[in-house]
Amino acid sequence: MNDAQPKRAVVIGGGLAGITAALELADAGLAVTLVEGRPRLGGLAFSFRRGELTVDNGQHVYLRCCTAYRWFLDRVGGAELAPVQAKLDVPVLDVAHPRGPRLGRLRRDALPVPLHLARSLATYPHLSLAERALVGRAALALKKLDPADPALDGVDFATWLSRYGQSGRTIEALWDLVGVATLNATAPHASLGLAAMVFKTGLLSEPGAADIGWARVPLGELHDTLARKALDAAGVRTETRTKAEAISRTASGSWQVEVAGETLDAEVVVLAVPQKETHDLLPDGALEEPGRLLGIGTAPILNVHVVYDRKVLRQPFFAALGSPVQWVFDRTDSSGLKGQGQYLAISQSAAQDEIELPVAELRARYLPELEKLLPAARGAEILDFFVTRERTATFAPTPGVGRLRPSARTRADGLYLAGAWTATGWPATMEGAVRSGFSAAGAALSTLGRPHVHPLQEAA
Ligand SMILES: Cc1cc2nc3c(=O)[nH]c(=O)nc-3n(C[C@H](O)[C@H](O)[C@H](O)COP(=O)(O)OP(=O)(O)OC[C@H]3O[C@@H](n4cnc5c(N)ncnc54)[C@H](O)[C@@H]3O)c2cc1C
Repeated sequence: MNDAQPKRAVVIGGGLAGITAALELADAGLAVTLVEGRPRLGGLAFSFRRGELTVDNGQHVYLRCCTAYRWFLDRVGGAELAPVQAKLDVPVLDVAHPRGPRLGRLRRDALPVPLHLARSLATYPHLSLAERALVGRAALALKKLDPADPALDGVDFATWLSRYGQSGRTIEALWDLVGVATLNATAPHASLGLAAMVFKTGLLSEPGAADIGWARVPLGELHDTLARKALDAAGVRTETRTKAEAISRTASGSWQVEVAGETLDAEVVVLAVPQKETHDLLPDGALEEPGRLLGIGTAPILNVHVVYDRKVLRQPFFAALGSPVQWVFDRTDSSGLKGQGQYLAISQSAAQDEIELPVAELRARYLPELEKLLPAARGAEILDFFVTRERTATFAPTPGVGRLRPSARTRADGLYLAGAWTATGWPATMEGAVRSGFSAAGAALSTLGRPHVHPLQEAA
């Protein structure tokens, strides 16, 4: 190819990481082909039809501090469809209290950090006075930690919390309440580095950092329909149902990606697929120790979906204590459910013990629990009950995982890695996925000698 022709890039994997990398490379003038094995874009954050419902494979939320994912929403024209709440407000309902169910709220004030949470913590009914005082002490210590310090990666979060006097109850009612949902692991199984990242960024960076955002439309509308439109407009050739089967180097130093019936030639390849698939596709010598990728474990998330014949919940979502139920979201409007009924999704992270349970067993477990949490559910008719199981929802954020996560650059010129599981510093999130896409595209463009302004720097 001559120098006047644009450089060619192939992005493998149409999750948030791959879509981001493809948009960034196309915006910089490369001729980009994106290949995705499945019939749709969006990877682990997608929707499907079930009768009249459009169902998300699992409830997804993000925080105001997720600047990269918010860039993504803007870039695909979906920001208004997934707004952030005006101010952090999480109802937390404890149904195991000896004097009956108790509702508390995690909220913020308009005060500077960390006072923005002080009033909420001072009145949080699920902890004793002494426990609340000790939370303040731990929060101040957490603020001083550097999440990127490799020494933190090898320590588990529970050990650190107990060093700061956090009781089992405090861990359940506060640290794990947030940590399990964001890290997909309980404190003993979470790296202190990743936990510090989540709590520092979300709760201790800016007053509004932890305000919660979520899609008011099916995820597929954002991550598939709108993303596809943005890719088309950017000039990306997007091929779904197209699995990359092999990557090889040509004699001239460029790359060839084999897909069914075609060989794609490129100067740049971004591999934006999960760690196991990356391991299987990586050309020899691309990483010093490719076997390390297989050391990055995975963790499941289970969603239990219930459609009632009437409204049983008046909040958009809440978290539960004293119950196997973790978080409950009202999915009625976003799913397109018509009539008087209400559709709730229970989101169960770190679901290792439940992910394989039969539907009947999950039904027998969760319907009575919902009745305990929501009195209006007693006597309501169940119009539909089903579950979605994501066995490899996230990488497992276990202590020590940080040293296994590779950066975007490989040892092979022109070949880059992306995915929420790569070295983003974040746990497996939509934010991490988009950040990894930026990193891969940024590394590719700087190697090509293209000036590249990181979109987050541009926005700042
Ligand atoms: C149930 C559930 C709930 C979650 N909740 C949240 C949440 O609340 N907040 C949050 O921020 N994150 C959440 N996450 C995590 C978030 O969805 C992921 O971290 C993120 O979507 C990962 O994006 P990715 O692009 O890195 O990877 P993936 O989404 O895994 O994308 C990789 C893509 O590569 C494709 N692929 C694989 N092999 C090939 C091949 N050979 N050729 C072509 N294509 C290939 C796959 O089909 C896939 O589409 C949740 C995940 C799940 C499953």
